[in-house]
Amino acid sequence: MRKQIAAANWKMNLTLKEGEALLDAISAKPHTLLANQEAIFAVPFPYISMAQAKVGAKTNVFVAAQNCSDKASGAYTGEVSVTMLQSMCVKYVVIGHSERREYFNENNELLAQKVNICLENKTTPIFCCGEPLEIRESATQNEYVAKQLTESLFHLSEESIAHVVIAYEPIWAIGTGKTASSEQAQEMHAFIRSHIASKFGQTIADAISILYGGSVKSANAVEIFSQPDVDGGLVGGASLIADEFVAIINALKK
Ligand code: PEP
Repeated sequence: MRKQIAAANWKMNLTLKEGEALLDAISAKPHTLLANQEAIFAVPFPYISMAQAKVGAKTNVFVAAQNCSDKASGAYTGEVSVTMLQSMCVKYVVIGHSERREYFNENNELLAQKVNICLENKTTPIFCCGEPLEIRESATQNEYVAKQLTESLFHLSEESIAHVVIAYEPIWAIGTGKTASSEQAQEMHAFIRSHIASKFGQTIADAISILYGGSVKSANAVEIFSQPDVDGGLVGGASLIADEFVAIINALKK
């Protein structure tokens, strides 16, 4: 059974105290995670230890990083390596978020290297893909997303790709309040799965979790997550509000 995931992306928000208060408030609210479900908190690097202490022994709850270096170690001031993250027991890293692609010029080739270094260090990349508005308007989103997947993931072995989580995040829906309809999400997720299957086979494609991201909130999570190829969400804005994120966790497919 595929893993269903509610992943919070705090981005560059919250002070340490606010982050602590948010995790405490989420813990205090009733939420259930079945055996195949996970809640993940992608927090800023300096908050990783705090967040790990807060989620502590909770089953199926993990702390993630929002990025990592493509280099193993060395003179790269300001960078954080996967080895460092692994030494802190970080299990997931968000790779290729559209904000990193846009503001930090991360391209498919660099992201392939980041995926590699994550997998070499037994850390699961949550690999983000998704098209800008002009591509959606020209109805070429499938080709655009296929290129992102092909150029960053298709060099992997069958064994390695099985350890990747994919997040489809249409850029026009991120932080805009404009969500893809559940039909649009399902259509793209099914396409992503078929594209993965074309290279790695259906069995592997069927086992990969594909998350939707783009203005997910409590009001739309149940409908979006109920789509057959949607395995949860990567959530920005709504993950900063305890009631919202708890409702999103509880919206995961049963
Ligand atoms: C994101 O940060 O990945 C995201 C989808 O943000 P939002 O939920 O705010 O659109």
